[in-house]
Amino acid sequence: MKVLKFGGTSVGSVENMHNVKNIISDGDKKVVVLSAMSGTTNHLVAIAQAIELGNPSDAIDKINNLHETYFKTIDSLLTDAHLIVDVKNYVSSVFEFLLECTNKSCSKTLENKILAQGELLSTYIFNSFLKQEGISATLLPALDFMRTDAFNEPDIDSIKVNLERLISDGKGSEIYITQGFICLDDEGQISNLQRGGSDYTATIIGAAIKAEEVQIWTDIDGMHNNDPRYVENTSAISNLSFEEAAELAYFGAKILHPQTVTPVRKDSIPVRLKNTMKPEAHGTLISKSTSENGIKAIAAKDNITAIKIKSARMLQAHGFLKKVFEIFETYQTSIDMITTSEVAVSLTIDDDKNLESIITELEKIALIEVDTNQSIVCLVGHSVVNHQDTYKLFQILQDVKIRMISYGGSKNNISLLIDSKDKINTLQKLNDYLFELVTL
Ligand code: ADP
Ligand code: ASP
Ligand code: MG
Repeated sequence: MKVLKFGGTSVGSVENMHNVKNIISDGDKKVVVLSAMSGTTNHLVAIAQAIELGNPSDAIDKINNLHETYFKTIDSLLTDAHLIVDVKNYVSSVFEFLLECTNKSCSKTLENKILAQGELLSTYIFNSFLKQEGISATLLPALDFMRTDAFNEPDIDSIKVNLERLISDGKGSEIYITQGFICLDDEGQISNLQRGGSDYTATIIGAAIKAEEVQIWTDIDGMHNNDPRYVENTSAISNLSFEEAAELAYFGAKILHPQTVTPVRKDSIPVRLKNTMKPEAHGTLISKSTSENGIKAIAAKDNITAIKIKSARMLQAHGFLKKVFEIFETYQTSIDMITTSEVAVSLTIDDDKNLESIITELEKIALIEVDTNQSIVCLVGHSVVNHQDTYKLFQILQDVKIRMISYGGSKNNISLLIDSKDKINTLQKLNDYLFELVTL
């Protein structure tokens, strides 16, 4: 069995929904994971924010606008009169619920319930569209099986048991449709796998059912060698190892949720990235095979905070780093990059929720300097640290102010920390010299 995930753009227009229908109706048994239609989750976030800011009339306007957009889509997607009534009733019940939320005080639980509606809407609408097209499919409600534990990690054992039961209940069905992104937390409350989490849903399901392959269908022909939103002349990479893909996803390649590769890596379940609008394109195959050495791709992660921790005598002071790490542990904040010298250690975090408390604690043991608005630029490739051309990086980036370098932490990754304002220029320069082979 395969797992196919379709992102927001893939289910965001009538034309693309037809493309998805064609892709999934090949007679093979599969689980189809759908995101919310493009723009919907952002819109729901804005509704939740308006409620939180005590601005219900703004929230109501936003809800009514979105309601209207959905009705227009339904009118152009469906032709069967009974189905149109049924789907509009369902959609109206969702918007009724959202209007009720504007009378409530905003909490994390309410926000999560609001955010969950996007995937509930897209799966209901798409399932009805398949019905109209004579394709039988079974809806698997994600909230009946997708659970996270107390550490916000997927509870694979419970997911596996429940998913197997639900799939065997739907005997005979070829296509199982489910919501990406949404889940129940360890207390049984509606939650989610963070923005872009439908990719993660797909690989969690892939691992739970030991899928033959997971496919991530999106609006681009696979993982590109640099961020196409900022850089000209990027190109798709045909093969990546799990390690390379994990580094790129974690360090900002938006095409994949940062954790996408984690669930499938252990069982070497391949992940294929494909373009819904251009299914004939090869895309990217992520698998356990590795290829030639050298820099294969570059990604960048924004909103990084760098913290410099200066101590008079760090190396002599046994246990200094332990104390530092314990502070980050206490505030459940993970560290991305780290460099050390005799007198100081610099490290980066991307979650600054507890920054103030962390600084207060650190100041008890050292002098602290904080730099915000930093970006990590990550160069990825098999055995990249051993490659003969890697030294050129220093020449290419001689004009860029580099705050930190991490080299050798993994042999597949070299990371640089720079000011975010230098990011686009840095990415383009690396692209020109490394991939476009402009000579130095
Ligand atoms: P979906 O809604 O299908 O999940 P996303 O918007 O989350 O799609 O991811 C696809 C987008 O990721 C692309 O349109 C592209 O702009 C962006 N992107 C960023 N970095 C990369 C990269 N290295 N390769 C391909 N796409 C990338
Ligand atoms: N709809 C969610 C989001 O926009 C999840 C996803 O698209 O993967 O973040
Ligand atoms: Mg995405």
